[in-house]
Order: sequence, then structure tokens, then C-alpha cells
Amino acid sequence: MSDSLFTKIINKEIPANIEYEDEFVVAFSDISPQAPVHILIVPKKPIPTINDAEQTDAELLGKIILVAKDLAKSKGIAAKGYRLVLNCNEEAGQTVFHVHCHLLGGRRMNWPPG
Ligand code: 5GP
Repeated sequence: MSDSLFTKIINKEIPANIEYEDEFVVAFSDISPQAPVHILIVPKKPIPTINDAEQTDAELLGKIILVAKDLAKSKGIAAKGYRLVLNCNEEAGQTVFHVHCHLLGGRRMNWPPG
């Protein structure tokens, strides 16, 4: 199977504005931001969709949320509020099949989402 777009970013084969990186996770700015802050938090492990996540991924998935929380604080949007989104499969709008969490903030969010 060929590498996902996000694996290419993780491997630095495609450039991205990296906001955070450690052994397990990388976070970078979305190329088409939908809010003043729009960062993607991505596990280095190439899990295609949330449907493919397993019990052994629990710590990794938790880490993604904690990285998002820390980025929200460092971007100054934690107190006012922000949204975390994980799209799963086509009907939810997933376009890159490598699990990622969107951190969106810096403007008022609507509910229900579109
Ligand atoms: P999804 O629709 O799968 O939940 O989110 C995929 C996201 O990846 C989209 O918000 C899209 O703008 C972003 N994206 C697509 N291609 C690239 C790219 O080459 N670089 C970066 N930084 N983001 C990308």
C-alpha cells in the first residue's frame, strides 16, 4: 500500500508548517484553514480511519487529544473555546485516509455542524 499524504508529511517528503512533533504524533497547519487556528494532529502510526483503531491504540488516541489541548493553549484559544473534529469515512467528509484530529478555533463555531 502506498504511503498516505500525511505519512509523506511525517517523513518530510512533503513540506508542512509543523507546530508540534514527538515520537508518536505530529501536528501541522491545515493547508486550507477553515478557522483562524486550524491544525491537524496526526499519529505517526498510519491508521486509515477511526474504524480501524484498536484497543492498543487507546493511549495514542488519548495523546492526540492532549496535544490538541496544549496547542489550543499555546495558540491562545483555550479559554474562549475550540473544536476537535475527527471525520470518519466519506459521509463525514474524510478525504485523507490517515487518522487525524482537526483543532479549529479563533472564531465562533456553529452547531449543528454542516
Ligand atoms: P479530512 O477532510 O480528511 O477530515 O481532512 C483532511 C484535511 O487535510 C483537510 O482539511 C485538508 O485541507 C488537509 N490537507 C489536504 N492536503 C494537505 C496538504 O498537502 N498539506 C496540509 N498541511 N494539509 C492538507
